[in-house]
Amino acid sequence: MDVKLLRVTKEGIDLVSEGAKVSGVPPTQSAREIVALITDNDYSSVLEHIYFTLDISGISVAVSRELLEHRIASHTARSTRYKEEKGFDYYIPKGLERRGKEEEARIYMDAMKNANEAYTKLRELGVAREEARYVLPLALHTHYVLTMNVRSLINFFMLRLCVRASPEIRELAMRMYKICLEEYPDIFSKVWCRGFTLGVCPENKVRPGGCPFKKFLPEKREVKGRFERDAKRVIEKELKGLVFMR
Ligand SMILES: Cc1cc2nc3c(=O)[nH]c(=O)nc-3n(C[C@H](O)[C@H](O)[C@H](O)COP(=O)(O)OP(=O)(O)OC[C@H]3O[C@@H](n4cnc5c(N)ncnc54)[C@H](O)[C@@H]3O)c2cc1C
Repeated sequence: MDVKLLRVTKEGIDLVSEGAKVSGVPPTQSAREIVALITDNDYSSVLEHIYFTLDISGISVAVSRELLEHRIASHTARSTRYKEEKGFDYYIPKGLERRGKEEEARIYMDAMKNANEAYTKLRELGVAREEARYVLPLALHTHYVLTMNVRSLINFFMLRLCVRASPEIRELAMRMYKICLEEYPDIFSKVWCRGFTLGVCPENKVRPGGCPFKKFLPEKREVKGRFERDAKRVIEKELKGLVFMR
């Protein structure tokens, strides 16, 4: 897997701060102070003015489908209708590379070999790429160009840097994150998975043992549980007030 930066909005911190000033942030604050206020308080719409375009290669079709679930983005993928896939490269799950998994690894590699042979044979018999491609596996490597604004990237990292995300998309997210952090450290140093970014983990009880923050990052249910009953009484009162106002 490889991720390269193709384009990024230049001077994005100034751009975001100019946008924030239009919306009413005091002009006496510096651009960096404004960006800190925006990221800390989650006034994120102005972050939509900064765009990243990334070239992503060597990811599986399976993970490209997960990527496509992120609708607030522009996606361009290698076409299996127009590109030849004979002798294709493919993803090998880390679990199959472990010692003691030799038989599983052999079954997996055989499936890839069989798919490649079927595809190649069909192409040699004159079957069109758009028909032959249906024998290709989800592990098939694809090539992708992705454009996302910073607000959407933050949402992407919050979901996909979580240890519950699939290992391949988590690796992709980490590679993307490193690029984003390098370009805009003031913004991205405040972001990681949802737990880190929000200060509470919304995964609650399904948070796995492998979560590196498990020991010190509270669950959302635990924090909400402390005030929920009192807060609900306040909400009921507010709603009653609404009837009274009528
Ligand atoms: C651990 C994990 C497991 C997952 N498992 C599954 C699964 O089993 N099946 C599956 O289908 N997907 C699964 N997903 C994908 C997930 O449901 C989302 O589709 C994906 O993460 C994209 O997130 P998103 O909608 O926030 O992003 P985007 O599509 O980029 O949307 C960004 C934000 O815009 C807003 N938004 C976008 N579109 C709408 C809309 N139509 N209406 C209202 N608000 C909108 C929302 O606030 C959203 O958070 C999984 C994701 C993770 C991280």
